[in-house]
Amino acid sequence: MSSFADEVANTELFDQTRDRTLTTLGATLAVVLLPFSINSYLQGRPLMGVLTSALVICGAVNWLAMRRHRKPPIPLTIWLGLSIITLLRAFVVIGPLATYWCYPVPVMIHFATARSSAQWMSRLFMVIVTPLAFLYLPTPEAFRFIITLALVDHFGRLLIRLIGDLQGRLAELSLRDSLTGAYNRRHLSSCLSKSMAAANRGEGAASLVALDIDHFKGINDSYGHDAGDRVLEQLVALLQERLGTDGMLFRMGGEEFVVLLGDTPVDQAITVAEDLRALVEAAPMLPEQRVTVSLGVAGYAEGQSAEEWLKAADDQLYRSKADGRNRVSMAV
Ligand code: GH3
Ligand code: MG
Ligand code: MG
Repeated sequence: MSSFADEVANTELFDQTRDRTLTTLGATLAVVLLPFSINSYLQGRPLMGVLTSALVICGAVNWLAMRRHRKPPIPLTIWLGLSIITLLRAFVVIGPLATYWCYPVPVMIHFATARSSAQWMSRLFMVIVTPLAFLYLPTPEAFRFIITLALVDHFGRLLIRLIGDLQGRLAELSLRDSLTGAYNRRHLSSCLSKSMAAANRGEGAASLVALDIDHFKGINDSYGHDAGDRVLEQLVALLQERLGTDGMLFRMGGEEFVVLLGDTPVDQAITVAEDLRALVEAAPMLPEQRVTVSLGVAGYAEGQSAEEWLKAADDQLYRSKADGRNRVSMAV
């Protein structure tokens, strides 16, 4: 069920970064290419002038859009097409000197497009440029040019993969509690919204289980705070092992947790909650004391807000506490 985390890592954050990269590239290209564009007109090469001006305009338009907090309107595929046409023309006009302009292209592709599109775009680019190199350069230089270009392409791909993996890992960490590794309260609200939206669309009922360790203060007092921390870690490992991919575990703070069971009606959720209770009671977490938990179950009622749903589970948890602890309660 880490798919929620994967989604965040791979879409929202990375898309924002990509848009920013595209815009920075746009601004840089606009500034760098502008003098070359003017020079092309001055040297009597109007077609080259028009093509480079078009690249300058594309870059400037995206940069301005981003400054106004809008999505860059010109996609990289358009830039890329235009860049390749400009390069083809450059090979005709300036011959071997055009090769220098090839190096930024694979880097641009890897940094500004999704991983899947970058693969075929960079390959297509190499396929187009290779015959041109052999046409316009002496063979030994063409070999060197293609090999160094392939290396730039390879390192660009490696670097972006590394950044993507690190970003995914950081995004995942930001959703988890540092002591236990359970998901944190911040992540709960987005997961609840998704489950509620699915339930309101009729795609399966979801249930919540609120869980709190019994007399945890006493455990801290008797065994020390560090031992209390170890109990929290063991408890989370135990609960997560039982839940597997059926449910997500969130630490709300202290010794309070919530389990979100997607696509689980309340009668099944009670069975899961009872299983969790029995597992904790049977686990040898401390030398001379049993650790127990109290639980409250609430199925999602259509139209309920996240706060109301959480409160319903919490109310049942407090009923379990009032009825003597180490038990499961549910709304009737
Ligand atoms: P009840 O059965 O009514 O839930 O009683 P309780 O003692 O578990 O509940 P109470 O709210 O009185 O105490 C919770 C304790 O949890 C108090 C606090 O010191 C401890 N605690 C909160 N966070 C942590 C933590 O991260 N590590 C440790 N070791 N203790 C914590
Ligand atoms: Mg407690
Ligand atoms: Mg508590």
